[in-house]
Amino acid sequence: MEKDILSMLPEEIEAELQSLGEPKYRAGQIFDWLSRGVRDYEEMTNLPKALRDKLRAAFPLYRPTVLSKQISQIDGTIKYLWELSDGNAVETVVMSYKHGNTVCVSCQVGCRQGCAFCASTIGGLVRSLRASEILDEVLFSQLDSGKPISNIVLMGIGEPLDNFDNVMRFLELVNHSKGMNIGMRHISLSTCGLIERFDELAARDLQLTLSVSLHAPDDETRSRLMPANRGRGVDALMEACARYYKKTGRRISFEYAMIDGVNDTERHARLLAKRAKAVAAHVNLIPLNHVEEREFRPTTAGHMKAFIKILEDEGVNVTVRRRLGSDVDASCGQLRRKMQKTGTAS
Ligand code: SAH
Repeated sequence: MEKDILSMLPEEIEAELQSLGEPKYRAGQIFDWLSRGVRDYEEMTNLPKALRDKLRAAFPLYRPTVLSKQISQIDGTIKYLWELSDGNAVETVVMSYKHGNTVCVSCQVGCRQGCAFCASTIGGLVRSLRASEILDEVLFSQLDSGKPISNIVLMGIGEPLDNFDNVMRFLELVNHSKGMNIGMRHISLSTCGLIERFDELAARDLQLTLSVSLHAPDDETRSRLMPANRGRGVDALMEACARYYKKTGRRISFEYAMIDGVNDTERHARLLAKRAKAVAAHVNLIPLNHVEEREFRPTTAGHMKAFIKILEDEGVNVTVRRRLGSDVDASCGQLRRKMQKTGTAS
């Protein structure tokens, strides 16, 4: 496979330059151009022509292209469908809040986790993204939209902990002081709970926010909704969360999509409160987005209210996620799915 210079840190580019017989200080210049989105060596005007030719032969560059771009009439949310070098497509969403712009990136083409309410997993996993492909979602969304990105959520298509090494490299690149320089505290990573990776993640002691897609506090409901729970279980997940919190000192956030008649009862709320308190987690309730192929419906306003009251009475820190971009299919997997079905994303 070709070497991907876009996924390299400056020191790795240095090593490549040395083996090409070039001075290593050029690495900083190259990293700088690439971090600005330059994808043609001819534009790297501070490099000698001979070096530009060598680089072109050794490290081909690619720029993702916009397959579709939808802008919400309601709140300005932008939803991109990017075409990758092999013709696959991934979704990226740019959301504007008072405190800045947040980009929601995908980390895989498709997903193999099989959550029963999610659109991303319907066609299974096609492949994982390279670190540079995830980085390019952030970079080119910023360049195309003209909106400076200050926050990143890994909550698009795919399971970050199922693409561990590339996601870790993406974090290093996007956080690099000579790159986009986005602080770890401005990054959230969301997982369906692949607990065998939690200790490894904790060992890196990153200041990011870990979001755990809990969606049910008991094994019966959670295993029905999320195959990732089978053979692992909620108790083991909670133990992994406790260890993570102890090691990093960072509070975990529980994502909880409210599904009518499935996980929105008083019994679920009480058990969820207990679970959240045990590991000092914050609870983020999400009204379920209805997916055409799925049987599930969002909870009713009444059930949502009662659920929130139980959590608050128990002293749990709870928020309800605002729905953005509802007119542009801005929830995971829906746009790519539409394109697969009809051949067009519009
Ligand atoms: N694989 C990761 C990140 C991807 S999805 C994870 O599971 O966390 C980001 C969040 O959206 C997850 O909490 C996921 O469970 C949730 N989600 C997926 N489909 C949804 C739907 N139809 N309605 C509401 N939330 C959904």
